[in-house]
Amino acid sequence: MSQHFDVIAIGGGSGGLAIAEKAAQFGQRVALIEGAKLGGTCVNVGCVPKKVMWYAANLASAVADAPDYGVQAHSDGFDWGKLIAGRNQYIANINGYWNGYAERLGLTRIDGYARFVDARTVAVGDQHYTADHIVIATGGRPIVPRMPGAELGITSDGFFALEEQPKRVAIIGGGYIGVELAGVLSALGTEITIVALEDRMLALFDPLISETLTENMKLHGIDMHLQFEVAGIERDEQGLVLAARDGQRLTGFDQVIWAVGRAPNTRELNLEAAGVTVERSGVIPTDAYQNTNVPGIYAIGDIAGRELLTPVAIAAGRRLAERLFNDKPDLKLDYENVPTVVFAHPPIGKVGLTEPEARERYGDTLTIYETSFTPMRYSLNAHGPKTAMKLVCAGADEKVVGIHLIGDGVDEMMQGFGVAVKMGATKADLDNTVAIHPCSAEELVTMKEPVRRPGQSG
Ligand SMILES: Cc1cc2nc3c(=O)[nH]c(=O)nc-3n(C[C@H](O)[C@H](O)[C@H](O)COP(=O)(O)OP(=O)(O)OC[C@H]3O[C@@H](n4cnc5c(N)ncnc54)[C@H](O)[C@@H]3O)c2cc1C
Repeated sequence: MSQHFDVIAIGGGSGGLAIAEKAAQFGQRVALIEGAKLGGTCVNVGCVPKKVMWYAANLASAVADAPDYGVQAHSDGFDWGKLIAGRNQYIANINGYWNGYAERLGLTRIDGYARFVDARTVAVGDQHYTADHIVIATGGRPIVPRMPGAELGITSDGFFALEEQPKRVAIIGGGYIGVELAGVLSALGTEITIVALEDRMLALFDPLISETLTENMKLHGIDMHLQFEVAGIERDEQGLVLAARDGQRLTGFDQVIWAVGRAPNTRELNLEAAGVTVERSGVIPTDAYQNTNVPGIYAIGDIAGRELLTPVAIAAGRRLAERLFNDKPDLKLDYENVPTVVFAHPPIGKVGLTEPEARERYGDTLTIYETSFTPMRYSLNAHGPKTAMKLVCAGADEKVVGIHLIGDGVDEMMQGFGVAVKMGATKADLDNTVAIHPCSAEELVTMKEPVRRPGQSG
């Protein structure tokens, strides 16, 4: 006998919880299937533990800078165990919150991993469950490429499980997870080497961000190797060794962290049984309304392969519930202009198009404004990381189509400027806004002269 529901959500992470919560609030009978802890990647091995550690790293940097301001602070070292215990308790509290909330919402919790039996039925172990609507929100997991010694490295999941602070770490990957882990570990006193296949860090970000990030990482003593193609990991008497395809060898690490991307959790779902199309990468393609190719089966969050971010998974889940159960048949998530932050040291924020992307879309109609400076926060320190800002504007009315920021405070700045870009703000709108002084954000409403690129006319 199978049990029937209006909705089954597979995966209790950001997306699955969002659709389950909303559907229950609209009076649907909802089953939530989760094989691990509620909260998914973000709560357990992503945004939340990362951000707690980022705060620790910021505090360590502030203590180091404090004496120049006359504040007689000094560090007696760093207690990794204490930070990890506190962080884990914080996460356990969030898990506990979700467990209680799911019960109050009247969700049927099913513990275990789901696989499809047919387009209306999923199984967990021997038990079968049917539903009118099945939402796949199974997220992804870190990739470990196949190569000799790959198993000697850990992933971001392994990083969050470390009980002792490593002394010398090599991070493979110059994307946002690699950059964030490098920043945290380095500020807490671990020696960091980071290698990337690309010719710049954060290769998908605006070039100004990559350049400034590189400068800031150098300032923090992070050793960077670009266009470094890892061929394998070995162990010698000095520790772990990164071997590159061109013969380079970097040695002496006590941990190597793979940060080379994430793979969608589709393989175990037995999607063939339901007839759901999957891309080679494992991503489940959806239309603008999160529909898969099979009516009644939807995919949201990382598994759908667009903007792999918690608020995106939540927004897609909530809109899907509104569309299916609250009579809003046209509601869908607009994936344009999603703001995002990289919690580097200092942080990075972006919304909209990079300059190269905008040039492809808008050609010569672009006007670029940019600035770079050491913020006042470091005025009494001998060194401080750089802040850089870029506005990418298109057309005669200089519509702002991209904002790219790196520097202290930009993580909090970005949300408001994200609203402005989403509303279609022009450069004139920014200019008409009175600045807040003195702060870094005021630069965004006071930039005067556009940048002239070599060969640009006018
Ligand atoms: C290190 C790191 C840092 C990050 N930092 C940020 C950040 O700062 N900001 C941000 O917005 N995003 C961040 N992210 C990304 C964010 O965590 C994801 O975009 C988000 O969690 C996606 O939500 P989801 O619901 O699609 O999947 P997930 O949160 O991954 O949830 C999927 C759930 O499905 C479960 N599951 C898988 N297969 C099955 C199955 N067959 N049956 C039942 N359950 C199953 C899994 O156990 C998991 O709990 C970070 C990610 C990482 C790895």
